Amino acid sequence: MKLLIKGGRLVDPASATDAKLDILIAEGKIEAVAAGIKKAAGVEILDARGLVVAPGFIDIHTHLREPGQENKESIESGSRAAARGGFTSIACMANTEPVNDHRSVTEYIIARSRQVGLVNIFPVAAVSRGQNGENLVEMADLVEGGAVAFSDDGLCVMKADLIRKALEYARMLDVPIIEHPEDHSISGDGQVNEGFVSYKFGLRGILNAAEEVIVARDIILQNRIQSRLHLTHVSTAGSVDLIRNAKKAGTRVSADATPHHLLLNEEVIESYNPVYKVKPPLRTEADRLALIEGLKDGTIDCIASDHAPHTRDEKDREFEYAPFGVIGLETSFPVICDRLLHAKAIGLNRLVELFSAGPAQILNLKECGQVKPGFPADLTILDLEQPFHIRERDFLSKANNCPFIGWKGRGAVAYTIVSGRVVYRGR
Ligand SMILES: [Zn+2]
Repeated sequence: MKLLIKGGRLVDPASATDAKLDILIAEGKIEAVAAGIKKAAGVEILDARGLVVAPGFIDIHTHLREPGQENKESIESGSRAAARGGFTSIACMANTEPVNDHRSVTEYIIARSRQVGLVNIFPVAAVSRGQNGENLVEMADLVEGGAVAFSDDGLCVMKADLIRKALEYARMLDVPIIEHPEDHSISGDGQVNEGFVSYKFGLRGILNAAEEVIVARDIILQNRIQSRLHLTHVSTAGSVDLIRNAKKAGTRVSADATPHHLLLNEEVIESYNPVYKVKPPLRTEADRLALIEGLKDGTIDCIASDHAPHTRDEKDREFEYAPFGVIGLETSFPVICDRLLHAKAIGLNRLVELFSAGPAQILNLKECGQVKPGFPADLTILDLEQPFHIRERDFLSKANNCPFIGWKGRGAVAYTIVSGRVVYRGR
């Protein structure tokens, strides 16, 4: 079975390509990338005229909830949501039940994802056993089992000595540590950003410092270790400054930001709608603009969904009692395309890089994030002009806790192709 993607505009930041090029796929791999590839007998054609062909999108931060909380999301429903969102690969966080702190859990996730057979799923294992913040997991064994990174996400690794040890092992194993930067002793039971909005609505606040002290601590530790440190969902101008300065000084650190922190600020809390309750909290407009600056100048290396499904019942509670988190797999590309690309905040090459080469490099996925002969044929084909309207009833995720419901704009996923197979068709 051969597939020829014909007439599209290939945007591949890793090879500095932006040109009208055809792509021939054979046996799940990219066979050739060239202009005007002729149709041969037995080759299926995908007409990509007017469309952008990009390396398969990668989400570095997804919560799939399986094993243990399949009422919120499962590997199957999460895979469908990822494919619809243009993601050919997703890295799933360890805060499942049981926690992915043992090779058997990692292997289960991989086996189940292969049964589902839609997108590539790369398990992220916990840093500490049961995410207890005390005892390091068997990192080498987990890597052998297929873990691509380590994170206690949902929680921060509060003990500096534990994150130091994790970074040292990660250096030997050449895998990243993904830190959820939040000093729990500062954030406590805070609900929203601390400042004008928390005072106005009488909700307990979370200071910027809760995030920034951990960002600073981890950078200081990493500065000596030079392992792979990734700071996820950074949300404050102060964090962006710390990371920018660390990079300038030669510290090996990477960071991501989420679509909700890039496109929303704390003022939406006015509605008391728990769909806006996230961790870290939505911050001020100045923080949001600083994140966009970080995207532009390379301080922030990728966009991550932090897809966090919850059941309708849980998210329908009063603001104070609702859980933190929003879903994002199906909406990340359209909202970023409309509000950042069409609004001319970032260019197309940078947008594609933030969703493909950027996360591939952080996760050290050697055959992802680039369109190259011999690599798996993972491609995301985009229609930048197609109108979208985000509607709850269209979600393939089991959850509906999405802060972008009702949004309209331009930019849609036309096709998602994993190992040469079309796993989602948007037209
Ligand atoms: Zn987190």
